[in-house]
Amino acid sequence: MKSISKLIRDDLQGFAEYRSAEKENAEGDGNKSGRIWLNANELPWSVVESVPENTHLNRYPEQQPAELLELLAKNYGVSTDHLLLSRGSDDAIDLLVRLFCNPKLDSVMICPPTFGMYEVAVKIQGANLFSVPLIRSQDFQLDLTKILEAWRSHIKIIFINSPNNPTGNLISVDDIAVLCKTLSGKAIIVVDEAYIEFAEAESAIKLLDKYENMVVLRTLSKAYGLAGARCGITFSSHEVVTWLRKVMPPYPLASLTIDAVIKTFEPENIARINAYIKTVEAERDKLYEAFKEIPSITKVWPSRANFILVETFNVEKFIDYCVKQGIIVRNVSHHESLTNCVRISIGTPEQNAQLLDILKKMP
Ligand code: PMP
Repeated sequence: MKSISKLIRDDLQGFAEYRSAEKENAEGDGNKSGRIWLNANELPWSVVESVPENTHLNRYPEQQPAELLELLAKNYGVSTDHLLLSRGSDDAIDLLVRLFCNPKLDSVMICPPTFGMYEVAVKIQGANLFSVPLIRSQDFQLDLTKILEAWRSHIKIIFINSPNNPTGNLISVDDIAVLCKTLSGKAIIVVDEAYIEFAEAESAIKLLDKYENMVVLRTLSKAYGLAGARCGITFSSHEVVTWLRKVMPPYPLASLTIDAVIKTFEPENIARINAYIKTVEAERDKLYEAFKEIPSITKVWPSRANFILVETFNVEKFIDYCVKQGIIVRNVSHHESLTNCVRISIGTPEQNAQLLDILKKMP
């Protein structure tokens, strides 16, 4: 072991970091030659290309920029003291775990297969992880009975992702409400709604007044086309938001990001985004039907997000073939219940047509 590595915390010695789509590509073999990128659930169009020239980069930005807070609070129908802006929702996940979990003593519950950053944040904090899998035979819904049976007082947070990445289904809001109610004063229920804009479904934000132990996460990286700007929004009680503001870094958002988000929320850009969302939804539903006819795909799951989960005959062969054709998709077969599965983001109509054409010709 290298001498500096010996100084790293014991519990991190075998640490497996989060494998982001970007990291997989940077380290991958030949994936860089991709022409059609369907691996990171981004919007395939850019909404805002530039920010105002009069951005004052010599000055520190506000920790929680007032103008942006007002704008977003109005947009989501909540008051500004129930909102927290962070550098992507990845940062909000990390902040929540650090705020609520003592290393070694406290725990977090996740419901796999789900987004990998929850587990990574827990490991970095040195907290413990409990998993209660989603029920595959029931459209990947929560196993409420098992969750409540497994809950212990040291489990401070339960992460729920709806629509869930990588399975694409919505989680029952009624089940989420039961968890919030049953664990009121005992655990924080974090509902990550990164993809909800593509679901045309009611957000858990409407339950915030009822449950002070609920946190809802949103991101501008998906439907709003701002993955490169890094901005996430956390909704919760004034108490939780106040604590998060205390423990977060003083300047989480770059001025360029703040300006880009304000520009994105101009009415003509919002109209474009809404049209893009409709296109993604229509394309997703078309692809869902078309995938059923592709011989190398053995199962397709319905999706309420901007990606589709499919099961293939042979995941390595499928991904190899796609890469050779310049199409980059995401291998999700490392999840226990997703052997041979691949997650495919929805691209532009032209990209999706090319994808189908290529998949139809797969030998
Ligand atoms: N939650 C889920 C479910 C996600 O899939 C992602 C992005 N892959 C995130 C959160 C993080 O998004 P952000 O870009 O805001 O950090």
